[in-house]
Amino acid sequence: MMGAMSWTRYVGVGLLFAISWSASTADEGWFWHVTDFHYDFSYSGLDLSCNDDVTNHGTYGNYWCDSPWSLVDVSVEAMKTFKPDVDFILWTGDSVLHAGDEHLSVDINDGILSNITEKLVQEFGSTPIYATYGNHDYFPSNQFPPNNNELYNRTLENWLPWISGEEEKNNFLKGGYYTAVTTHGIRIVALNTNLYFTSDKLTGSLHDPADQFAWLETVLAAAVTNSEKVLVTGHVPPGVVDTMGKPWMYPQFNAKLNDIIRKYSDVIIGLHFGHEHIDNFRVYTKSGVPVATMFLAPSVTPWRYKIPGQTGGAHNPAIRLIQYDRQTGQHINIITYYMDLPASNTQGTPMWAEEYNATRDYAIDDLSSNSMNKLVERMSVSNSPEFANYWKWRVVSVQDEMLEGCDEACKANTVCQFKHVDQSPYDACVSKAVSGSTYLLPSLMMVLILALSCLAAQK
Ligand SMILES: [Zn+2]
Ligand SMILES: [Zn+2]
Repeated sequence: MMGAMSWTRYVGVGLLFAISWSASTADEGWFWHVTDFHYDFSYSGLDLSCNDDVTNHGTYGNYWCDSPWSLVDVSVEAMKTFKPDVDFILWTGDSVLHAGDEHLSVDINDGILSNITEKLVQEFGSTPIYATYGNHDYFPSNQFPPNNNELYNRTLENWLPWISGEEEKNNFLKGGYYTAVTTHGIRIVALNTNLYFTSDKLTGSLHDPADQFAWLETVLAAAVTNSEKVLVTGHVPPGVVDTMGKPWMYPQFNAKLNDIIRKYSDVIIGLHFGHEHIDNFRVYTKSGVPVATMFLAPSVTPWRYKIPGQTGGAHNPAIRLIQYDRQTGQHINIITYYMDLPASNTQGTPMWAEEYNATRDYAIDDLSSNSMNKLVERMSVSNSPEFANYWKWRVVSVQDEMLEGCDEACKANTVCQFKHVDQSPYDACVSKAVSGSTYLLPSLMMVLILALSCLAAQK
């Protein structure tokens, strides 16, 4: 249910759409990217996902917990309301809540995936949904095997409308990956990058889990031959995580995937991933020239992580709309919408609004790698207003008093992860930034701590 107030907001935004984009001439299409619902069926009961004692269970959720169904519901309904006529939807996984394996099972996880699939289909009808698994969707959590299993069998039944042909069905049943072509001829490459995640204990010693790299190269080589435009999507993103100083993936898999992306960057028109829950991006370069950009969409779940010694910041639920050229595949704009969680709970109605319009609010021409690279350069200088905006949007516009600061050392890590997706260049970038910084001592200590924690993690 949505109240009158939120509908009024929608109408206002709809009018803005009409005015802003009526003058454009390219064959423009739109698609949604939604990710990391993390539906907690026990919200306001056992609170399985909640990282703190929650006494005040807001209707639409709590920053300490995963999404109640009401939040899943209004998020998909907001997508439909803001833009019902999209060409397709990318959905990059992690539908299952953060909970211990003792509370989950193949039945439960499959049930959650089915519920959310149904909700998306209910709202969007025959619009294709190109879905991928997140690391939390597997049971036991993170442990994707490099072969067929019961979950893949069951999910294929749910996603059959979008995974067509015997070959793609077999790819999905073997490794949870597939390729499809949209009605406008864009090739979707849907990866199961959870196979490369360091929390997956079944794949780290393998050369090519589920033969996905070999398959990917074959698909991309054929795309070059056929002059196709390719959109790559998946859950766990490649690149280096600024808060950890290392990739999400096993180092050899991160390097391999990055090499493939660079090698075939001529046909790759965009990369869209999830998993980080924050709003983020990374620019791929070849000999210093920007060649591809990976966009990480913020999550629906507002959940704050809490591990010993570290607590994640609060963030609001978000959904993302991408405008692209149907002929060239070029990304024209990204509009991110968000729900002010505390205000929605207080008002008793979902307060969705446009959070930012990337080209307008970052003052860039488009979402091309050149434009994104220029944006990174503008963000790199001291007191950059663009970086200040990024920092707020990174956590989806939580209220100012909840926004954690980012000093020069923190900023060095973040800017370096925009620019460098491989470990060595990232490390060199951070060292260079740190050596020129007044934050030398604390930064060196942070590097030391990170190095020690990396060593500890490899045991
Ligand atoms: Zn997640
Ligand atoms: Zn994840």
